[in-house]
Amino acid sequence: MAAQLLEGKVIADKIKEALKKEIVSLKEKTGLCPKLVSVQAGENPASSVYIKSQKKTAEILGIEYVLDTLDADITQEGLIDKIIALNLDAGVSGIIVQLPLPKGIDHKLVMSAISAKKDAEGMHPENLGHVLLGDSELAPCTAQAAMQLITSTGIELYGKEAVVVGHSEIVGKPLSMLLLNKFVTTTVCHIATGQRGILPEHVKGAEILVVAVGKAGLIKGDWIKEGAIVVDVGINRVGDKLVGDVEFESARDRAGFITPVPGGVGPLTVTMLMRNVVSAFKIQHKI
Ligand code: NAP
Repeated sequence: MAAQLLEGKVIADKIKEALKKEIVSLKEKTGLCPKLVSVQAGENPASSVYIKSQKKTAEILGIEYVLDTLDADITQEGLIDKIIALNLDAGVSGIIVQLPLPKGIDHKLVMSAISAKKDAEGMHPENLGHVLLGDSELAPCTAQAAMQLITSTGIELYGKEAVVVGHSEIVGKPLSMLLLNKFVTTTVCHIATGQRGILPEHVKGAEILVVAVGKAGLIKGDWIKEGAIVVDVGINRVGDKLVGDVEFESARDRAGFITPVPGGVGPLTVTMLMRNVVSAFKIQHKI
């Protein structure tokens, strides 16, 4: 039987409804409006797509969204000074720096300059530390989105076998910690797993599989365990189509639940960003 589709938009709509109500009550309580400042250094078509979707979602929710566009020739020091000024501005609840940054700028240094309390993306080392400790309030958005999709299945996670393919700081590593915090037995696969030729072996044992690599067709449909929860984070352009990292049609015949690409993780990621802004607002106002 074909797997049930895990549609991010449906889950995102529910979370957005709850967030909208919470924002109205926060505004009544404080007389203030949560505000997200998006810093973009130079023009970039890829980040412009994300900015458009962030702006639209913020507007729907009642979050003020300000795009701060800086010249492409800004220096690292200039960018960090800008962030420090935003950190000190009491009216700013959350900050996001759009990637990629111009050549020569160390993005890790820039991200670390954002106050941990205003870290909308949940990528500050202090917030990543809280993910490890299991008490995070601001976790990386895509990892949170994948977690939302997994929990939306209603399947008991305790003791399940999960495989996360990809060990990036933005998705694979934090997600493996979020799963571990739910007592999921979690294996993280990466480039060396693939090079040793044992990726299929790991994937075949996964009751929960999350793939975040960025290689179309990396995961073959016949590797999927019968009834597995499959979350495909990958986004790849093949001709004029967007596809994930998992061979969708053949995987769908074996999985219990599977995310479509597009329409799975993507719509939830921006919602998680807005939820982080609301959490940051509450942290700053001690609510
Ligand atoms: P990334 O930083 O490039 O990380 C990719 C990971 O995959 C790395 O850990 C890499 O290992 C590993 N890898 C590469 N080849 C592999 C192989 N053959 N077998 C196993 N692991 C392999 O990418 P990312 O930022 O995590 O993003 C991953 C994908 O998710 C991309 O397609 C991206 O567009 C998508 N994405 C989607 C969303 C969304 O909201 N839907 C958000 C973020 C990212 P090494 O580093 O050791 O080579």
